[in-house]
Amino acid sequence: MSKIQTVTGNVAPESIDISFMHEHLLFGMPGWDLDPAMAFDRQVVMDGVVQELRALKKAGADLLVDLSPIASGRDVNFMVEAATASDMRIVACTGFWSERGMPPHFHPPLKGVDDLEEIFVRELTKGMGTTDVLAGIIKIGTKGEHMTPMEEGLFRAAARASKRTGACITTHISSHLPSPVGVISGREQLKVLIEEEGVEPSRVIIGHCDATRLPDYHLEVAKAGAFVAFDHISDEVGAPYAFANEMRIPWILNLLEHGYERQMIFATDRIMHFLSGGGAQEFTADQLITDFMPMLRKAGVGDDTIKTIMVENPRRALAMPD
Ligand SMILES: [Zn+2]
Repeated sequence: MSKIQTVTGNVAPESIDISFMHEHLLFGMPGWDLDPAMAFDRQVVMDGVVQELRALKKAGADLLVDLSPIASGRDVNFMVEAATASDMRIVACTGFWSERGMPPHFHPPLKGVDDLEEIFVRELTKGMGTTDVLAGIIKIGTKGEHMTPMEEGLFRAAARASKRTGACITTHISSHLPSPVGVISGREQLKVLIEEEGVEPSRVIIGHCDATRLPDYHLEVAKAGAFVAFDHISDEVGAPYAFANEMRIPWILNLLEHGYERQMIFATDRIMHFLSGGGAQEFTADQLITDFMPMLRKAGVGDDTIKTIMVENPRRALAMPD
């Protein structure tokens, strides 16, 4: 038996439908809450987030994975309240998104690899922060061209926590840097997690693969056995890594032609409310269903294949042993 750990309780993997594997209700750079100029009206933000979750649910989504990890605006009680009000299933994560996402409290020598491993295991088995709400996935990442020594420690800790709990690891690469820079750190991630730490490749999702715009790299990640995440779908303008959805179609067909249907993950990396301020994104997550899916069908991708990518792959990725 296996289970998926959502913020409103464990559910059977076969009970979930269309799932968005990389989104954010709230995201902020560590320290956002210490800025006296930063106004955060919880109820106003909650109303907006619940409205967006309801629209996403209406479009056909059943589950959303919130990949804001520790110190990056993760608010467990906010997620529980939003999930309850919208009837959307939400999976939260433990982890840190990169060295930049780790407050000095978690740096060596105060915290070493073993300490981080214990924190992640605790959040997956006992509860996140001071709550008893369980995380359901581990999010880690690299920010620069190369993995830093501290990020390497973060990756090793995540690998060991994954092996102890069965939780999947999902990563971030430097999608803000010009392609193919993200490829280098993506390869380093595969090497540390799979080759060196021995994580089962099917427990690893390599993030932001579409941002690299390199189909050979997509195949490389798939050949390593990991999930290939196209998680900036519908982010077509504004961000440095934004580009037209049409460009993603041939890369998806390429992976399908090579038989990697069961290793593809789709998401939009939507931030419903950015706590550090700045411009709002010009898309919403539901566009993956309303706009992108018709494009896929038009390109000859069948409904069975879309179901594998949006339903069955998330079920497998999120399943943890009972
Ligand atoms: Zn993200």
